[in-house]
Amino acid sequence: MSSYWAPYGWLPGGVAERVRLVAEDGRWTRVEAGVEPADQDVRLPGLVLPGFANTHSHAFHRALRGRTHGDGGTFWTWRDRMYALARRLEPPAYHLLARAVYAEMALAGISAVGEFHYLHHQQDGSPYPDPNAFGHALIQAASEAGIRITLLDTCYLSGGLGPAGHLELDEVQRRFSDGSAAAWQQRVALLAQIHGAQVGAAQDDTVRIGAAIHSVRAVPAGQLGQVVAAAAGSPLHVHVSEQPAENEATLGHYGCSPTELLARHGFGGPLHTAVHATHLSAADIALYGRTATNISFCPTTERDLADGIGPAPELAAAGARLTLGSDQNACVDLLEEARALELHARLASLRRGRFSPAELVDALTGHASLGWPDAGQLAPGQRADLVALRLDTVRTAGALPEQVVLVAGAADVDTVLVDGRLVVSGGRHVLGDVAGLLAEAIAPLWR
Ligand SMILES: [Zn+2]
Repeated sequence: MSSYWAPYGWLPGGVAERVRLVAEDGRWTRVEAGVEPADQDVRLPGLVLPGFANTHSHAFHRALRGRTHGDGGTFWTWRDRMYALARRLEPPAYHLLARAVYAEMALAGISAVGEFHYLHHQQDGSPYPDPNAFGHALIQAASEAGIRITLLDTCYLSGGLGPAGHLELDEVQRRFSDGSAAAWQQRVALLAQIHGAQVGAAQDDTVRIGAAIHSVRAVPAGQLGQVVAAAAGSPLHVHVSEQPAENEATLGHYGCSPTELLARHGFGGPLHTAVHATHLSAADIALYGRTATNISFCPTTERDLADGIGPAPELAAAGARLTLGSDQNACVDLLEEARALELHARLASLRRGRFSPAELVDALTGHASLGWPDAGQLAPGQRADLVALRLDTVRTAGALPEQVVLVAGAADVDTVLVDGRLVVSGGRHVLGDVAGLLAEAIAPLWR
């Protein structure tokens, strides 16, 4: 048993004062407000919140941070650098990089990550002797960094979508493809066998195996249904309408929007997540609302790649559930993503107050979309995740606890608990110097 006390806590009913929390076997057993600390309590500073869920990550993109802005940084500068990296990366190097990236996420208050994982095979496109060598490396990395992982193993079969249909894979993309949805399903089944697989499985309680469709560009319509069916009961994520070009190509070839095409093959529902969803029609928005689909917004990536501003308030009003992702990990700060959700909506609509601070905290804690419906609240029975945010830093001093999510950042995170385990304390990760680990993992990749 372990117990904690903080001056403020973000409880299901709102911010409460003098909060005491007791954890046993990785779950909260008691959460009380308006009480004084007991002798044995660990005293935490500031405001304690539920752990954050990072619903969209490509861990290896972290190595691109600060390296894609040459010549002004076009989308193609970014993609060329990303492919240069994807061409070279091997499982041992990826393990070291991902471990450091997941530790950086823990420092930012993230207790679970949805890793949208599409780098599967050897450089010539053939499988490794263990066909899930990369998947295992990522799962191991998350475990060492102390956070939960939902490995969203991604089906990626074609090199893109043009006016004449789907394109051949190029030399780098061969590493992403299993050749068919059936072969993808077989490989993922092996991974699921080892790691306990389905939602609710307790075999390895910090790992879920989910699925992803890279996009309607990368998976031809004829194979979408098989991926959706294979993912039944597990989280399924898809990149949707990040750039207008995808909408144009899909309309040209299939005569409908990416959202409509996916829906025809069974996509949409509370275990499904559309990532980005930047360029949607009114019908697309209504469809995601009607099916209570999750939408993973990744605002710092979407602005970095000049994607545009997605219709977040409209999706929320329609009934979709908004979550947040760090995507390319050029910024690992989910509080910044939450703030950007509101601030981008202000810029796009010339109106303030599109999302309340409580709605932003809901978006920060979208664990259910990663297959963890028992996380995301400071309440008895929930997983004992917690983030203690300091209210006495230069950024947060003077702010009201109930509004601090609009001003705080990763640097204000003091303590992080994941499933009752202390991962970050006093702003320090249990692995030690995370900046050093990042530097050591990234330098060899560009040598
Ligand atoms: Zn992505």
